[in-house]
Amino acid sequence: MLGITTNSQKWYFVACVTFVSLAVSWVVTGLTAPDGLSRAALVPSTLAPLLIAPVASYWAACRLLEIHMLNEKLLNLAAHDQMTSLYSRDHFFRLIAGLGRDFQGSFLLADIDRFKLINDTHGHQAGDEVIRFVAGVLKTGVQPGGIAARFGGEEFVACLPDVSLKAAMQKAEEIRLVVGEKALPVGTESLLCSISIGIGYQDGSRTVEAVLREADEALYAAKNSGRNQVKSMGGI
Ligand code: GH3
Ligand code: MG
Ligand code: MG
Repeated sequence: MLGITTNSQKWYFVACVTFVSLAVSWVVTGLTAPDGLSRAALVPSTLAPLLIAPVASYWAACRLLEIHMLNEKLLNLAAHDQMTSLYSRDHFFRLIAGLGRDFQGSFLLADIDRFKLINDTHGHQAGDEVIRFVAGVLKTGVQPGGIAARFGGEEFVACLPDVSLKAAMQKAEEIRLVVGEKALPVGTESLLCSISIGIGYQDGSRTVEAVLREADEALYAAKNSGRNQVKSMGGI
C-alpha cells in the first residue's frame, strides 16, 4: 500500500502527483484537441491540473501521513503495558520469536511477594505504585540487551539473550536486592516489598513455553522456600 511516513515524503508525493497530472493533461490535450497542444490549449491544459492536483494531493498526503502516525501510535500502545511502560506480554513473545530458533539465553519470571497483603493494607493505588517500582527496577536491571515485560498482574517476565544460567542468577539476585532495599513512600508511611524470581535456561533445544514452565516451577519453589529469593531448577 502507498505509504507516507515523513513530512518530506508528503511534499515529494505532492510534487510527483502534480507533475504526472500536468504531463497527462498535456498528452491528452495534444492527442484530442483539434489543434493539438497549441498555444491556446496550453493555458487551460496547464492551469487545470496545476490548480487541482497540488490541493488534492496535499490533502491526500496529509491523510496518509495521519494514518501512518495513528498506526504507529496503535502499534506502540499494543506493544506496551500502559501502567508500567514495559513491553506487553504479547509483544514480548513477538520479540522472542524474532530471536530465531536456535536462540540461547535465560528467562526470568518475577512475582511480587504477598502483594495481595500490600493491596489490602495500603490500598490499590499503593499496590500500583509498587508494580511500577518493580517494573522500573527490572527494566534497568536486565540491561544491557535484556527484554522485560509485564506478564500480568504483579508478575513479570524477562529474557536475557546469550546470558548463562549462572550469570542470570547473579543478575536476578541484584534485581531482588535493589527491590528489597528501597522504602517506598505511602502517604505518611513507607513500605518495603520483595520479589521472588524463577529462572529457566534456553539452550536452543526446547520451546520457549517449556523454558518458561521451568522458570515457573523455579518461581514456585522460591515461593515455597519462604519467598524473597532467586531459584532455578538447574541445580545452581
Ligand atoms: P505470593 O507471594 O504467593 O505471590 O502472594 P500474592 O499475594 O502476591 O499473590 P496473589 O496471587 O494471591 O495476589 C495477587 C494480587 O495482585 C491479587 C490481585 O488483586 C492483585 N493485582 C493484580 N493486578 C493488579 C494491579 O494492576 N494493581 C494492583 N494494585 N493489584 C493488582
Ligand atoms: Mg505475588
Ligand atoms: Mg502472582
